[in-house]
Amino acid sequence: MSSDDVFPTEVQLKQDEGLVYITWSDDHVSPYPLAYIRGWCPCARCQGHFTAELKFQEVSGRALVMENAEPVGNYGMKLFWADGHDTGIYDFDELRSICPCEACDPEQVRMTERVRPR
Ligand SMILES: [Zn+2]
Ligand SMILES: [Zn+2]
Repeated sequence: MSSDDVFPTEVQLKQDEGLVYITWSDDHVSPYPLAYIRGWCPCARCQGHFTAELKFQEVSGRALVMENAEPVGNYGMKLFWADGHDTGIYDFDELRSICPCEACDPEQVRMTERVRPR
């Protein structure tokens, strides 16, 4: 199985830790800080329509409280936030590609990136 084929098998929200853990079909577990995953929200409201780059959005307060995560078709996941934001659909490949764990990002640079090519 190539890494392009992975999909989430479990989502565990740990709001008190400020983390959401996603377990993948290859048994990898990705710990995403909520500010990180919300900051990379790919929706048009956060990113605009015609940009070639994704920009990290700094948010605070209820925007960092995740209420729910739902699969969308077989390609992505929609995240619901307490500030009413629910337009972000995270493509599985995208989501996996930003995994900030030490195995995926040994230099630990992903957490400090603020712009990425799409
Ligand atoms: Zn958004
Ligand atoms: Zn990882």
